[in-house]
Amino acid sequence: MAALNKQQILRQIPPVNQILEDDTVNQFIQKYGRNLVLFNIRQIIEAYKKDLEYTAYKPLSREQISEYIIDCLKKAMIPNQFKSLQKVINATGIILHTNLGRAPLPHHVLNAVYETSSGYSNLEFNLESGARGSRYWHIESVLKEITGAESAMVVNNNAAAVFLCLNTLANDREVIVSRGQQVEIGGSFRIPDIIVRSGARMVEIGTTNKTHLRDYENAITDSTAILLKVHTSNFKMLGFTQEVPLKAIADLGKKHNLWVMEDLGSGSLIDLTRLGLPYEPTVQDSIHMGADLVTFSGDKLLGGPQAGIIVGKKALIDKVKANPLARMLRVDKMTLTALEVVLHLYLYGSDVVTDIPVLKMIAKRKEQLEEEAVDLRNHIINAVPEGYDIDIVDDEGEVGGGSLPGVVLEGKAVAVKPISKNVNTLQRLLRKMTPPVIGRIRKDRILFNVRTLNKEDYAFIARSLKQVLKDEWYETCGDGNGGSCGPRKNNISKATY
Ligand SMILES: *Cc1c(COP(=O)(O)O)cnc(C)c1O
Repeated sequence: MAALNKQQILRQIPPVNQILEDDTVNQFIQKYGRNLVLFNIRQIIEAYKKDLEYTAYKPLSREQISEYIIDCLKKAMIPNQFKSLQKVINATGIILHTNLGRAPLPHHVLNAVYETSSGYSNLEFNLESGARGSRYWHIESVLKEITGAESAMVVNNNAAAVFLCLNTLANDREVIVSRGQQVEIGGSFRIPDIIVRSGARMVEIGTTNKTHLRDYENAITDSTAILLKVHTSNFKMLGFTQEVPLKAIADLGKKHNLWVMEDLGSGSLIDLTRLGLPYEPTVQDSIHMGADLVTFSGDKLLGGPQAGIIVGKKALIDKVKANPLARMLRVDKMTLTALEVVLHLYLYGSDVVTDIPVLKMIAKRKEQLEEEAVDLRNHIINAVPEGYDIDIVDDEGEVGGGSLPGVVLEGKAVAVKPISKNVNTLQRLLRKMTPPVIGRIRKDRILFNVRTLNKEDYAFIARSLKQVLKDEWYETCGDGNGGSCGPRKNNISKATY
């Protein structure tokens, strides 16, 4: 068949009414109702049209397209098969990948979450007294033990933690912060905006590159409530720069009877120099240096669930807990369970660096990465047709998630060069696999960085490559064995109805 232009190909797509006449489709309609079936068919057709924009499809007849749509529908109609939020394979080498869910949790955490969430739990029930309890109790003592703080609580994320502390302690009062620390964290978290929204007045001191202790001291008035230090966790300044150490700010706070708060951001609980990384302040250090309140994320370097942890002086944390806004920012039992289990690994685990995936991935050494790359390459070589360039290359990774800026993690990747296809097409097709494989492009190759991969991922990557490198794929969108087609986004399951 001669090559068709796009309009001609689009005209080959059968009208929805015609698809609705099919027997299989009718069975689905009887079982799930017409609306859901129609919704899915439209999604599949939309996805197919999108594919046409990116991919050099061989022309299909109307019958073939109809068959393809019904095939995809069969997969889409399996409940939960095509959840919008789903597992992906992260082959980017970026460990705390903000778009890919940041910290992966240790497996056994999920058993605990299942246990406390599939039935009832003592979330707010004191088993000793039989009276009402606090959801914060469950993590309070373990956080105190690990960090050396007097008290602790946890909210939805660190942005919420910073906001809640400022709103509780500095509403209508002044917060002093260095111009060099007015950071923006991916997306919409900006320190000045959070301060303003919290009801506090921001008093900026120093310059972008230098702030001195006397700048803090000179800015103190009767209205000052907090001296705020923000860890510049996602950028580095070089050259003629100066920050005031936390210890000095804390001493100044004591002298003037002011609270000192630190937004640590990444919040490591272990000394990262142990893993060969540059020194990053730990939560323990901040408490030790005299911060009255310290806030940090649960799903950055700590390696737990999304959460914002607040540790510090009991009198202040009691006030924070009593703020009515705390109710809006509170965490649920699933998060609390996951956080408690992860924190227990810090206290009782055999070795946090092997117990916690984030730390384990950071800690991978050169020899291990080389071995893993060889293993992955072998999987791929065995799966794909001969003739492809499949090499092991150096590929830098990063910790990500706005942590440890400028720290390059030396790494290894397996690089695959497509023969006839465009590498962007290959990358796109891999994103449509189940599970989707997220690789990075370098020049005309696609790279799979082993630092962020598990051994179990290798077979999936190999199988997915095999599938997308086959010419047939372009004709039929999958060989019927792997779920490579079907709607991806905003799919609704039967339960929605
Ligand atoms: C990441 C970060 C935040 C925001 O934390 P989330 O948990 O993403 O809400 C705030 N401050 C600093 C310094 C950070 O690094």
